[in-house]
Amino acid sequence: MPFYIIANWKMNEGKPSAEGYIRMLNSRLKDMPRSRTIIICPPFTHLSRVSRLIRNTRIKLGAQDVSSEHKGAFTGDVPASFVSAEGALFVIVGHSERRRFHGETESIVRMKLIEVLSHKMTPILCIGETKSERSRGLTKKVLKKQLSGTLRGVKLSKKRIIIAYEPVWAISTSKNARHLTSEEISEMLKEVRSLALSHISGKPSELSVIYGGSVDYALSKKMRNARDVNGFLVGGASLDPKKFISIAGA
Ligand code: PEP
Repeated sequence: MPFYIIANWKMNEGKPSAEGYIRMLNSRLKDMPRSRTIIICPPFTHLSRVSRLIRNTRIKLGAQDVSSEHKGAFTGDVPASFVSAEGALFVIVGHSERRRFHGETESIVRMKLIEVLSHKMTPILCIGETKSERSRGLTKKVLKKQLSGTLRGVKLSKKRIIIAYEPVWAISTSKNARHLTSEEISEMLKEVRSLALSHISGKPSELSVIYGGSVDYALSKKMRNARDVNGFLVGGASLDPKKFISIAGA
């Protein structure tokens, strides 16, 4: 079973440059077990460059989003076919920043997920509750709704999707913010796995469920052998290759 370490560069480039970043990351990969699957998700404009840079390495390419449509008059959108042609094997869908800043609903996320699957890429489906939903005790209800809204009726095998639980309130937070403990994260991922399995048939152990939300070296180290955790989606800390390498190698 792979253990995913996924870099979400968001609207940034790796530091100091994509070239330097990939070179540094690649040189450290030989020290990491083969099961560690490293995926870099740069902005659309950097896909082809990063695709070239990771050729003949273990690093895989992902995109941060795709259009919910195949082609046509959708100014600014990028379809799954173009992303796949650049060499992307993975695509993040339903990130909370897309839901929040671009008004993506469950049905849009579902259309994107179907587009990704139909181009033989693996969706990284993000779900998570906001702070206010959590404080009102609605976490489970929200996760259930996000999973059923996006997975309903989608023909899916467990090996063709990664589910990323990212509590919205834990994303891009400062060191001092209160985060989930490693035990709480394991519990939540177990819960997400069982909720997701009501839409995807098969053995629970074959479904990849990962965590995202201000992941750093300390958390990654603590959770290295945790049950029910199949990897991490890393935002802020993935911009610095040294920090990202330390998380991946923890
Ligand atoms: C994210 O936005 O997917 C994310 C995990 O960001 P950060 O690590 O910065 O919280």
